[in-house]
Amino acid sequence: MAVAKRPPLIAGNWKMHGTLNDSAELVSMFKKVVAEPRDAQMLLCPPFTHLMAVGKWLKESNILLGAQNLSHQPSLGAYTGEVHGSMLKDVGCSFVIIGHSERRQFYGETDDLVAQKFQVAQAAGLIPILCVGETLEQHQKGKTESVVVGQMMAVLKMAGVAAFSDAVIAYEPVWAIGTGRTATPSQAQKVHALIRATIGEHDATISSDLRILYGGSVKGDNARELLSMDDIDGGLVGGASLKAEEFAAIFQAALVRK
Ligand code: PEP
Repeated sequence: MAVAKRPPLIAGNWKMHGTLNDSAELVSMFKKVVAEPRDAQMLLCPPFTHLMAVGKWLKESNILLGAQNLSHQPSLGAYTGEVHGSMLKDVGCSFVIIGHSERRQFYGETDDLVAQKFQVAQAAGLIPILCVGETLEQHQKGKTESVVVGQMMAVLKMAGVAAFSDAVIAYEPVWAIGTGRTATPSQAQKVHALIRATIGEHDATISSDLRILYGGSVKGDNARELLSMDDIDGGLVGGASLKAEEFAAIFQAALVRK
């Protein structure tokens, strides 16, 4: 069986939600959904304090584990409150979300810091999911393309294009995150194509193999249309990833896509 170059990736970002018990319930339901290896991948990104337990529950399963953030420090050391990439690896993470808009917005993460995190994630053997996307104001001023390309260029300049052969990009228009407002499939496709073309200016193979996820109010009932677009290779899902049936429906939509 030929293996798809860009198997759809459906990633759940649980943010700062839930008890350990809630996480256990979600994991046991999702393990039933992905009981067999499938053509699409499911990734769960629980809060830091749940990672170790979730990592144990997911062992030998078909579900991947990721973190929502990591320290930009390249080495272990006296950095109170920080979590190093190697520690995430140690508890079973293979992915880490980098530069989520909530981190850029509420914790002052700059393009430069995000690029540093991208690099330290890869140095620790993690696959970064680099989030890019414009705010509502930028969207209304027609700045979507320049903002998204600018966010990508910061990482491209620091890490080089080769780094994108082992990375994922998530296009998440900030105005669509947690608002119930979704970019239309054609709006999202346009930006995804721009992201692919921007990488393509540097390396055609890396560009065509790169997985680009859409994030912003993805739900069971809009996933299929979004995932049917040529350059949308999966979803980064917030709210709906905490609802077992919704997230399972999104995952099913990704299976139908291929
Ligand atoms: C997110 O936070 O990455 C996200 C896409 O959230 P939501 O699905 O709730 O819009």
